[in-house]
Amino acid sequence: MPAMYQPDLETLPRPDLEALQLERLRHTLAHIAAGNPAYAGRFASLPTVQSLEQIRHLPFITKNDLRHAYPFQLACVPQTEMVRMQMSSGTTGTPIICPHTANDVRQWGEISARCLAAAGVGREDVIQITPSFGLFNGGFGFHYGASTLETMIIPIGAGRTGLQLQFLRDLNVTALAAVASYPLRLIEVAAEEGFDFHTQTRLRVGIFGAEVWSDELRRRVEMTMGIETFDIIGMTETGGVGMGIDCPAHSGIHVWEDHYLVEIIDPESEQPVADGEWGEMVVTTLTREALPLIRFRTRDITRILSREACACGRTGLRVDRIACRSDDMLKIKGINFYPKQVETILMEHEQVANDYQIHLQRVGGKDEVHILVESPLAAETASSRALASRLSDKLYDQLGLRARIELTPVGSIERPPGKAVRVIDRRHTA
Ligand SMILES: [Zn+2]
Repeated sequence: MPAMYQPDLETLPRPDLEALQLERLRHTLAHIAAGNPAYAGRFASLPTVQSLEQIRHLPFITKNDLRHAYPFQLACVPQTEMVRMQMSSGTTGTPIICPHTANDVRQWGEISARCLAAAGVGREDVIQITPSFGLFNGGFGFHYGASTLETMIIPIGAGRTGLQLQFLRDLNVTALAAVASYPLRLIEVAAEEGFDFHTQTRLRVGIFGAEVWSDELRRRVEMTMGIETFDIIGMTETGGVGMGIDCPAHSGIHVWEDHYLVEIIDPESEQPVADGEWGEMVVTTLTREALPLIRFRTRDITRILSREACACGRTGLRVDRIACRSDDMLKIKGINFYPKQVETILMEHEQVANDYQIHLQRVGGKDEVHILVESPLAAETASSRALASRLSDKLYDQLGLRARIELTPVGSIERPPGKAVRVIDRRHTA
């Protein structure tokens, strides 16, 4: 197992960890009361928190609350104490701004360094950071972690795939940080150029996040690039990427519990669910200053896998890989499904390439699903028709979804910089 960045904190016995969480929760509530009386008013009528369980009496905070608080209405420090901000890449309306104090930036560097160390990245490594450096938190999150570890950084940011491959090869890059769909783009351009990751690079580790990605996709990327991949979580609102990551045991994503208190709730009843049951992750920040969050509803669906110490020695609880975002659920003809379920079914077939796009439209008052699937078989042949109908049958068998499958040549679906566009819903625009 690779070295930990902060072994004392990462292996704290659970009673000590929970005592620290309670102390920090009380501190955070006091910090909110001192810094933003209006925000503290949300908790005013409630008793003082005496145990971690009592957090259930506190109200949730939602993405909408944060939107309505634009730009700094929930901030708990004056703007003169802020040193930077990131913005959430929400698709609708007012953006969510997350300001940072100098301590917040240090906290971000610390959790991100723990993540990189868990993935086996250290001082002797070279990391190529491919998420963008800008309002999106990804580029800077990896940057602060790698800076903390004194790992050599290639801060290339998003896009320029040809140059990305050139640097991977020429600069002896060992670790790749990316939004989860970006490795597919690298693989595709590599194939066009006859570039072989196994023989032409020293790449060993991939740290991917920001999107829900299936196990099937993960297996493909690992095989093609010859790397071990790690699934990193965290979002703008919680202070950025780095809230947790899976370790070499790959038995769940460790959450840095001395910084974050995690609950899993039933999104409908808003009541906590038992460990092992799926629900929405709710996060309370325990060490953030500029925008501390109490019971933030992330919309991410996961479950608690274990609160026992892991084979790696870390004691923080482990959650499952994010199954979906509750916002991503598609409802069509009375059937609820998630893009990741479609992805898993498609990717089980070897003749399906790595890109696909789900189009929803309303024709004559009826919803229709049309899925574009990239495949080397795209030409109109008997074998391509057979594949399309096999995929269509599988989707119906497993999801109850009737969809028209259209095979399209590899490279024909547009690749935007940043996150992949997997769903185009035109049902309400026509
Ligand atoms: Zn572990």
